[in-house]
Amino acid sequence: MPTYEYHCDSCQHDFEEFQYIKDEPLKKCPKCQKNKLRRLISGGSAVVFRGSGFYQTDYRSDAYKKAAKAETAPKTESAASKQSACCSGCSGCGGAKE
Ligand SMILES: [Zn+2]
Repeated sequence: MPTYEYHCDSCQHDFEEFQYIKDEPLKKCPKCQKNKLRRLISGGSAVVFRGSGFYQTDYRSDAYKKAAKAETAPKTESAASKQSACCSGCSGCGGAKE
């Protein structure tokens, strides 16, 4: 039984509800009693990556990898150069590690 996330546009109330797939989406907000509920797609379905444009598996092979690389490359590079410089005659740690 999937969990559905609901968001109320009226009072901004967020909650989760267990429902069968065949069940009708809820409309009435349990908090403010207004028919302002919106059903969000829960993370369990693996279809929606919130905030990112990559939602298809095919994307991961190309665009996703590029994006991931662009994000991690500078980080690992600076970390690696820092590590290699430290304790081989560098002034970073004063040779305390050797
Ligand atoms: Zn509400």
